[in-house]
Amino acid sequence: MSDATAKKEERRKFQAIRGTRDLLPPETELWNRVEQTAHEVFATFGYGEIRLPTFEQTELFSRAVGGETDIVSKEMYSFFDNPDISELEETRDVVRELGPTVNTQAEQESFLFYLSQFISKVEQRLAAGELILSSTALSDLSALKNTFQELQVLPDSADAHTNDKRKLLTVEILVALDLLKFGERVSLRPEATASVCRAYIEHNMQQLPQPVKLYAMGPMFRRERPQKGRYRQFYQIDAEVLETVRPDAAKDAAKELAKDAVIDAEVIEMLMTFFDKVGLQGATLFINSIGHNADNCRRGYVAKLKSALEKVKDKLGADSQRRIDTNPLRVLDSKLESEQAIIATLPHIADHLCDDCKAHYAAVKRQLELRGVLYQENWRLVRGLDYYMRTTFEITAPGLGSQNAVCGGGRYDGLVELLGGPPTKGIGFAIGEDRLILALQESGKGQAQQGRDVYIAWMGERAYAAAIRAAKDLRNAGFSVELPPVEQKFGKALGQADKLGARYALILGDNEVSEALWTLKILSTGEQQKSVSS
Ligand code: AMP
Repeated sequence: MSDATAKKEERRKFQAIRGTRDLLPPETELWNRVEQTAHEVFATFGYGEIRLPTFEQTELFSRAVGGETDIVSKEMYSFFDNPDISELEETRDVVRELGPTVNTQAEQESFLFYLSQFISKVEQRLAAGELILSSTALSDLSALKNTFQELQVLPDSADAHTNDKRKLLTVEILVALDLLKFGERVSLRPEATASVCRAYIEHNMQQLPQPVKLYAMGPMFRRERPQKGRYRQFYQIDAEVLETVRPDAAKDAAKELAKDAVIDAEVIEMLMTFFDKVGLQGATLFINSIGHNADNCRRGYVAKLKSALEKVKDKLGADSQRRIDTNPLRVLDSKLESEQAIIATLPHIADHLCDDCKAHYAAVKRQLELRGVLYQENWRLVRGLDYYMRTTFEITAPGLGSQNAVCGGGRYDGLVELLGGPPTKGIGFAIGEDRLILALQESGKGQAQQGRDVYIAWMGERAYAAAIRAAKDLRNAGFSVELPPVEQKFGKALGQADKLGARYALILGDNEVSEALWTLKILSTGEQQKSVSS
């Protein structure tokens, strides 16, 4: 690299990575207001905040979100999390170096000694819980141990056959050694539900009074194609209600169903209350029931949908054609103009729900009406994963273009069990905070209050001491105060106060200090008043 290139490289300006962005003041005030409103509204419904890690084992998401989904198959930020294995690596290197020298029984001795050291160190750290091995790595380790034992029991003879066998086993060991990977694959979370369920299981929350109502907020990560309202690091406000199924619940099936419907409606009521409190206008709630995964319900419907789709296959685009085989329900998501008329002719799931799911859906609608929550039914609102069931909902807001969904949610009984927990029912939603903020800004509700309450214009040593005291008192009383670090002429100070959007200027000069008076100027009107300083 030439000197000039190196210099250029040194001065390189860094930029936020594509799809990520800085949230700056004053906009962050709006973010804080939205989050504060969520804390307040959710608390009134009895929800507690859960703060989750931003990364988890990749396996958690592939199990919960589904290995075939776009999110897991191509959008997650995953990496190999290596533990501190320097000591193990040193021993492994010695074994690697000795490997190619093994020709004789004597050379084999020292190779085996270091190999056994390596294996026992790995096992000790595994037993101490300091090392986590993936299931592949565990089977690689056991293959290594088997070959090690085979080599150990090789006869002492130096005949050509035994020597060949010795060399072969040594090579096998070297290959197995290279394959052995320590650590585990982890991913930045693409959503929060999986983590909430993992935490529910990990902390035995089934022992808490049921249902358990939790909410979480924070950044999520998906490697999507960035556009307006779609980022690679985006923020969600997420709420989940989990309830472990009582052993005798089956006896009261109808009651349970009715209770679930009430819970679903209350979750939605809370969500709409939040949107209302935050000032979102024109939010539309769409609901649907996607039944449950059984032959007399969703599976039967999907079979009918599939055969209806086969008949119109030629008229569909490539994506939808592919989905007929991979996930027919997702065809209903299509936004392609040319497919809309065809989709309108497809069978509706509502006509194929089993009696329980029908009763549940009717009860949810009744409960929403009871709560004065307005909704629209949308039979095309679906979820691609098997464990999603019954209630699904989405909220759209105006002003967002094609990415107009500000929240998605649904019931997912069975997810906790899928993650190794007890049979547990669940429902939740995720609000896209970035889009909510955009929608608020579009509708003029997002005006963040900028500026300070008071700008202190001071001149002179004595005035400065008084200014410091005044700033302290005003800040203690909750006012936002700008106290300039250097003396300024009053004209300049007032100009600065204006630029900062201050409402008042407190003028402190030597006159004011000696007369023990404060001059307060209301910057919007220019009005000025003197009062006695305390
Ligand atoms: P999902 O977890 O996919 O059901 O998404 C829930 C909500 O999160 C959506 O309705 C969006 O508002 C928001 N969201 C999802 N993906 C993104 C993204 N890449 N950028 C911004 N918001 C997103």
